[in-house]
Amino acid sequence: MTVRTRIAPSPTGEPHVGTAYIALFNLVFARHFGGKFLIRIEDTDQKRSLPIYEENIYKALKWCNIEWDEGPDIGGPYGPYRQSERLDIYQTHIQELLKKGKAYKCFATPEELKEMRELAEKSGQKSGYDRRYRNLTEEEVAAREKKGESYVIRLKVPLTGECQFEDAIKGRITVPWSEVDDQVLIKSDGFPTYHFAAVVDDHLMKISHVIRGDEWITSAPKHVLLYDSFGWERPIFMHMPLLLGKDGRKLSKRRNPTSIFYYRDSGFLPEALINFLSLMGYSMPGDKEIYSVQELIEAFDPSRFGKSGAFFDITKLEWLNQKYLIAHLTEDDLLQRLKAWAFNDKFFKKIMPLVHTRIKTFGEFMELVDFLFINHLPYSNELLCPKEFTPEQAALVLQCIIWSLDAQQSWDAESLEKASHEVADFFAISHKKEVMPILFAAIMGKKFGPPLYASADILGKDRTRARFLNSIEFLGGVSNKKMNKLTAAWNKKEGKEFFLKNPSQQPVKE
Ligand code: GLU
Repeated sequence: MTVRTRIAPSPTGEPHVGTAYIALFNLVFARHFGGKFLIRIEDTDQKRSLPIYEENIYKALKWCNIEWDEGPDIGGPYGPYRQSERLDIYQTHIQELLKKGKAYKCFATPEELKEMRELAEKSGQKSGYDRRYRNLTEEEVAAREKKGESYVIRLKVPLTGECQFEDAIKGRITVPWSEVDDQVLIKSDGFPTYHFAAVVDDHLMKISHVIRGDEWITSAPKHVLLYDSFGWERPIFMHMPLLLGKDGRKLSKRRNPTSIFYYRDSGFLPEALINFLSLMGYSMPGDKEIYSVQELIEAFDPSRFGKSGAFFDITKLEWLNQKYLIAHLTEDDLLQRLKAWAFNDKFFKKIMPLVHTRIKTFGEFMELVDFLFINHLPYSNELLCPKEFTPEQAALVLQCIIWSLDAQQSWDAESLEKASHEVADFFAISHKKEVMPILFAAIMGKKFGPPLYASADILGKDRTRARFLNSIEFLGGVSNKKMNKLTAAWNKKEGKEFFLKNPSQQPVKE
């Protein structure tokens, strides 16, 4: 068998360390067995997919020294490698399933689906869809289509029995079919869902091993059923342990710095980041911790994959980075790498407008813009909390700033300014005396510095987000209960209640 592996990222956000982690093992696996490794871009979510995110995936993986043999950017024998360019292929394949009676058209309206969901919730059932269109006659289907009724195409999941498949990491998996939904394969706009497109593409691209994160294991029964329905040979599935934050929950941009660019911009070595990621899912014999990708490829043994989630501990990554730096960089290399990182004309040119009229001597340059070159800021409650603010209130402000920037889908200077006004209005607090000082402190670790918004722009989206998250954590975080309350208030755009000083100021209930 020719080994062929792939990563299939969706270009819907900043390039995630989890993508590098999964890509690494797909690469190592293919290289060890003399096979090929490819990238497929899963951009069927038309609303959320953006070309810039796709470009950033390539940029980030290249920075990590991860190279692929086939992909949208370089082509290959099984292209196109971008799903939005393969729509006719999915159409042909769905017709085949319909003909075989393995899939069916479902005409449920949004209102019907809502009713079914509510009913299912009440009766404690898992599945929201009651399969009411599964057994229509051909004539009934034709009549509805003639009337122009909109439909999706669903997979006919067996009503009894169980799904069994081998996972080469986790062993035999058995799932009763009663726990599996009649998955939508083609949406009403004619676009395929991830499940359908991924299986068709994995088959046509001759993927031998599907190596991906644990979060997809619950989808595997649907995928297995699709392979069987087409009469195709199943690939070997390998579900890798997830990356976990130090709170034991899945690494998420809502709580952790997850963008590969964050690690690049904070001055980590890509070799060390990759080495660290490999430790998350695999252990070398003798618990060896520092090695190159080439060493890993040579020594690779699939039975040494980890089975449970691994903690992505940034302190350990820093430790490993230092070990790498000492062992692999000469002083001259270090100088070159530092220059390439931030001590170069390109970066300094961005900073000049901030410092030009603000320094008396060159010696004050670093005093003014130190925060662009350091990772650990001297946070304190005194620094982060404006007068009369509790630490939690300051954290709430930062949380809403993050939400506002995410909603704007932009973290540039202008968007941050807009966000800070929006949040001041939301809480009915002072923009200048309360919101801006919190942002200043979180971004710069000091009370005064160069202009706030332009500074954040240069610091970059990923480091700015990380500083907001770190500040929130430093302030003691936001409890789940408060977070729910804040979310509800944010949706209603009414957050005064979080800053009322005493009960007599409670708004009168209407
Ligand atoms: N598009 C999916 C993702 O974004 C791919 C999952 C898979 O590897 O099958 O992670």
